[in-house]
Amino acid sequence: MSSQIETIPINEELIFDTLKNSVKKDALYVREILAKALELKGLNETEVATLASISDPDLLKELFDTARKVKEEIYGKRLVLFAPLYVSNLCKNECLYCAFRRSNTLVRRKALTQEEVRREVETLVDQGHKRILLVAGESYPVEGFDYVIHCIETIYSVKRGRGEIRRVNVNVAPLSLEEFKKLKSAKIGTYQLFQETYHRGTYQRVHLGGQKKDFDWRITAMDRAMKAGIDDVGVGILFGLYDWRFEILALMQHIKHLEDTFGVGPHTISVPRLEPAVGSDLASQPPYPVSDLDFRKIVAILRLTVPYTGIIMSTRETPNIRRETFALGVSQISAGSRTNPGGYTGNEAEDMSQFSLGDHRSLDEVIKDITQLGYIPSFCTACYRLGRTGADFMDLAKPGLIKNHCEVNALSTFAEYLEDYASEDTKQVGWTKIKEILNTMPETRKTRTEDMLARVKSGERDVYV
Ligand code: SAM
Ligand code: SF4
Repeated sequence: MSSQIETIPINEELIFDTLKNSVKKDALYVREILAKALELKGLNETEVATLASISDPDLLKELFDTARKVKEEIYGKRLVLFAPLYVSNLCKNECLYCAFRRSNTLVRRKALTQEEVRREVETLVDQGHKRILLVAGESYPVEGFDYVIHCIETIYSVKRGRGEIRRVNVNVAPLSLEEFKKLKSAKIGTYQLFQETYHRGTYQRVHLGGQKKDFDWRITAMDRAMKAGIDDVGVGILFGLYDWRFEILALMQHIKHLEDTFGVGPHTISVPRLEPAVGSDLASQPPYPVSDLDFRKIVAILRLTVPYTGIIMSTRETPNIRRETFALGVSQISAGSRTNPGGYTGNEAEDMSQFSLGDHRSLDEVIKDITQLGYIPSFCTACYRLGRTGADFMDLAKPGLIKNHCEVNALSTFAEYLEDYASEDTKQVGWTKIKEILNTMPETRKTRTEDMLARVKSGERDVYV
């Protein structure tokens, strides 16, 4: 018998029953759930379904307040920044919501050469980025999957002044065990893949061709990744394809499967909402549109359900929605993004882009904004390079130890950004914020952080604990 897992059964009936039985629970029960969430041990399916059903403004406010507290308790004020790098929009699949799907003739096709990848990375490094998320459609130039490996090698090889990319995360189609092993050897950070929808019927309706039609090949991808030794994996749902309440309960089943099988769940959850895409009617008219209020509920509920899992928010969303959800639980954000191959060195070409962006601001503008909102922008990549990944990361995170590391590393990488790349305005706002934070620290941590910041100021780079 093959050792490969063939599917992860999502129990749809159980989800529908849980949703049906959880509406109209009384306020007392909701408050008990919120009190339990503050213990940072997560929530069960009935509790999650109950929170998903609340609409009373007072209870909603309490939900959001609880999510804010949990976010603050575990992540403090830091927000990790990254940039997506679209290396290719070639694709042999037929996802009805995506501009890159094979039959869409409105998109100009392009796979970057290694020289073009290098130039894109130089631009990102010169903006101050340290983390890249490599993204590609499911079809590669002549060298096949090795194209992705070559792109990762190119990204890590770029050195510009004091800058470089220190962590490459990857969002590409599901791979075989052997290909995942290659990806692991290429020293990726997180392997990211969104199931899009856990509802099998909907999945089949919106994926009409190519390998992506195969729900089971996709849902078992994280098992193959973990077997290949990639223990930081990132899951996600494309919200708008099916009922979001169903999706988060199904996601819980997927997470439980990973925890039961590998002793650790996903490192991150992404929460993309369907955005308009060139040549896609489905993308402009989502079958299950998610309102802004429901979107905030999704982020808050996920924060309480899996408190130690990072939540990623992309520039699909507008600055306002992004600001609101940072407080509710988002821990990683992209900034200054382009979704067309070559978009950083060229223009944001609509006829090559995957979907429309909601936030068009530059990295520097986003950094200034989030600093003024009270956050610490972080480019930290320490955990991954010190081998604090998978279960080791969770062992540190759960007793709250990671927060101490994160805050000082966030400050040291923020200081690097301010010294090397920031505009005068952002520099001023940034150093004022750093001083403010130092003054709130206990004496020993303050001394250690001041020492790290002094090393950064004197020209040392990549200072972390
Ligand atoms: N091709 C690979 C795949 O499909 O998994 C990886 C890259 S794909 C470009 C990354 C993600 O973009 C998809 O998983 C999907 O969730 C998201 N996406 C596609 N079309 C979108 C749209 N119209 N709005 C928002 N996100 C979209
Ligand atoms: Fe291709 Fe991915 Fe777009 Fe589907 S979502 S068409 S697989 S790039």
